[in-house]
Amino acid sequence: MTAASPPEVLRAPLIVEFPFTRSLGPVQSAFLTGLRERVVLGVKTSDGSVMVPPVEYDPATAEELRELVEVAPTGTVTTFAWNGHPRPNQPLGTPFAWVLVRLDGAGTALLHALDAPGPDAVRTGMRVRIRWAAERTGSITDIACFEPCEPDEPDVPDVPAEGPQATTTTPHDGAFAEPVTGIVAPARLDYTYSPGRAQTAYLGALAEHRTVGERCPSCRKVYVPPRGACPTCGVATTDRVEVGPRGTVTTFCIVNIKAAHTANLDLEVPYVYAHIALDGADLALHGRIGGIPYDRVRMGLRVEPVWTEGGRYPDHYRPTGEPDAEYDTYKELL
Ligand SMILES: [Zn+2]
Repeated sequence: MTAASPPEVLRAPLIVEFPFTRSLGPVQSAFLTGLRERVVLGVKTSDGSVMVPPVEYDPATAEELRELVEVAPTGTVTTFAWNGHPRPNQPLGTPFAWVLVRLDGAGTALLHALDAPGPDAVRTGMRVRIRWAAERTGSITDIACFEPCEPDEPDVPDVPAEGPQATTTTPHDGAFAEPVTGIVAPARLDYTYSPGRAQTAYLGALAEHRTVGERCPSCRKVYVPPRGACPTCGVATTDRVEVGPRGTVTTFCIVNIKAAHTANLDLEVPYVYAHIALDGADLALHGRIGGIPYDRVRMGLRVEPVWTEGGRYPDHYRPTGEPDAEYDTYKELL
């Protein structure tokens, strides 16, 4: 028996990003507006300790928290991790430490960046202070980073565990002119995607304008696109089966809303999006129906794919002109 060489599996970089807009509520609004004014606000919890950053509800009792206090712009590093290779949009462009800093007066620690020459210059217990951003807008980045205090300020030898702390805080009513009420937080995932063995074969066949599924050895169903395993039997599907190209519309919807931000879906509405069971497949895939008025599309309509130059998927499916499929032939695929 010879070992089969592993099949070539596709890989591609993928980036998913979107701006996430959220309102802040009274406590976070005061916190971020405070940062804009170079003031760090915490909130007093029911046991008298101070949380920075502040939250609206007590994590232990779920009681509503509204008593804001100002804490100091100096604090103590409670733990850290060195970041030798900063990524785009991180707080500093040069290597820095991620630190948890317990600001003087606070009972909890705040995550931020510490500008330090190297990992040997960072210690648990070291004293640090806020370096404010030159331009502040009401965002956590109004704290540009932390920086070490003067060398003659001694470390805190035993960093106390989180909890109540004898505090140097000043009551604050949280009122500022023109408070920040919302933020836009950019969310971004930057990763390498591998579709695995089954989908690699599927995509490879699509490049030749063929559609290839996989058959379950147990229930004999043919899955398109293949997932590598039968979702019913739980066994690996290895038997490749070419399906289509023709198929039957099993269900459909009429789209009346134009996609606002999707350049590659710049279609005139209304149009029809359908589930299509390709001949030989036991799972319907979806595609747009063209070449027929939207209000003439129906269940059982026989369709075939239309490819455009360079397209990786069929651009749409159009009627073949065959008689409609009998309901019994596709009723299990709805
Ligand atoms: Zn099966």
